[in-house]
Amino acid sequence: MKKIVFATNNSHKLEEARAIIGDNFEIVSLEDIGCHEDIPETSTTLEGNALQKARYIHDRFGVNVFADDTGLMVDSLGGEPGVYSARYAGPGHDSAANTRKLLRKLEDKSDRNAHFSTVVALILDNKEYIFEGRVDGRIASFPSGEKGFGYDPVFIPENSAVTFAEMSAEDKNLISHRGRAMRKLADFLK
Ligand code: IMP
Repeated sequence: MKKIVFATNNSHKLEEARAIIGDNFEIVSLEDIGCHEDIPETSTTLEGNALQKARYIHDRFGVNVFADDTGLMVDSLGGEPGVYSARYAGPGHDSAANTRKLLRKLEDKSDRNAHFSTVVALILDNKEYIFEGRVDGRIASFPSGEKGFGYDPVFIPENSAVTFAEMSAEDKNLISHRGRAMRKLADFLK
């Protein structure tokens, strides 16, 4: 079976990718290839960061690789937090702090429309490919639910009455930004 590196050590993401892509490729993590470095993510776009991560691993390890980058874009905040979603409340702050900051900034806003975007960059046999997934929705007034991670407790996907954090992982992955991008990658790899 052909081996491909997913440039992450996030076990939740690895599991999800293996479930979607698993049959044709053996998906290994950064840890599996002995990469313990902090990979730079200095671009101002999701595509730039995903490509930067994939190229970093490809250049150093000479392997087939894919990397992802995700952002939450809120319309009335001009697309914030966007590419800075992981560190919205500043360095060293956790998801709860990021979410609190987001809710505070939306206090006086009636437009709460938002979307998640994921970009996956693949380098396969020295060629680069990009796949994108998006889910539209809105930001709730207060957090609900215990599942998932990040902004899940305040993101209500369109045609849903509940947040991502109130859904099972399976239900979320069927409609999520990352699920959609990963299925495009899986279709390509087939
Ligand atoms: P990453 O590029 O996957 O590391 O995502 C960047 C940041 O976006 C994360 O730290 C989370 O705050 C947020 N994020 C990414 N995916 C999700 C998701 O599925 N639900 C909620 N928040 C997410």
